[in-house]
Amino acid sequence: MRKCPKCEKRLSPFYFKTACKYCGADLFYYHFDERLAQDAAKAAAQEEKVQRLLGKLPLPKRKP
Ligand SMILES: [Zn+2]
Repeated sequence: MRKCPKCEKRLSPFYFKTACKYCGADLFYYHFDERLAQDAAKAAAQEEKVQRLLGKLPLPKRKP
């Protein structure tokens, strides 16, 4: 069952309009933004992990 992410009212799974019929929230972009934010958070976490890993690795010193 699809739910409006903003007002959490139930929407028919066959309700394909991009705006919630109750509160007018933009369903497509609402989810889109959320996903982007999640991706960004994930990417940041990943980046941090990589940095931490790199910090632990004994990197070979470059010879000039
Ligand atoms: Zn709504």
